[in-house]
Amino acid sequence: MFSAAYFSETKVMSRGIVVLLGPPGAGKGTQAKHLFAEFNMPQISTGELLRSHMARHTVLGAKARRCADGGLLVADDLVCGIVEERLAEQDCGRGAVLDGFPRTVCQAEWLNRYLYSQDSVKSFSRQIPFIVIKINMQENELFRRLTGRRVCPSCGRAYNVFSGSVGKPNVCEFDGVDLICRQDDAHDIIYDRIKIYEQETLPVAQYYRDKGLLREIEGSRSSDAVFSEIVQILEEVHPTHRKQLHYQALVRSY
Ligand code: ADP
Repeated sequence: MFSAAYFSETKVMSRGIVVLLGPPGAGKGTQAKHLFAEFNMPQISTGELLRSHMARHTVLGAKARRCADGGLLVADDLVCGIVEERLAEQDCGRGAVLDGFPRTVCQAEWLNRYLYSQDSVKSFSRQIPFIVIKINMQENELFRRLTGRRVCPSCGRAYNVFSGSVGKPNVCEFDGVDLICRQDDAHDIIYDRIKIYEQETLPVAQYYRDKGLLREIEGSRSSDAVFSEIVQILEEVHPTHRKQLHYQALVRSY
């Protein structure tokens, strides 16, 4: 689908932090997986990390379950803790795609402190590109997507009964595991999740808009169309970065 030029840029593309914002069902997870597949950008999905803790019955998983199954947000300190742990892993040294985080202004402020504070344990610096892409979608389309969503409990890939992406035997096409309906995709819980998104996460969009870091795209198109636009945005962001890399190389050579 993409030209060789895209692949030759893989290393540069995989640097930086990309935050995917958007209501539940907007396709953040699908796009994050796409970015990993095409550009090897590690995906940090707080929803998936929390579900993995719940499946492994960890202490954190037990605390998260009370909120997550009911569509409520999990406490900021727990979520920031798992993101910190994940960002410290080696594959995230050049950046990552954050999917479902930050979801509150408190989390966004934490991320800012974590990435850019002088004493950060991480070697991220102000040089690293940071962009927030908000995927917009109408509420009725979100309902349709979420009520029809089926997920693979093993790899987290999402399918949809309405778009015909669920194959006949109802199994994941990548690992053959039976697809399931997420507990929080129940009709009444979807409504609450959207309300919480409006109350807690829209202010995060405003937080980044005020800093000039927010880009918005329309999500109710094919997944490939949305992905192409995300790639375009990343390409616009990274020329500056390429110059910075060049500059750093010059400084080092003296
Ligand atoms: P979706 O975006 O479709 O709502 P996710 O998989 O991102 O689904 O999240 C599932 C649930 O996990 C959320 O409803 C919430 O309970 C919890 N969760 C995920 N990310 C966060 C976060 N950043 N802060 C608080 N809770 C979170």
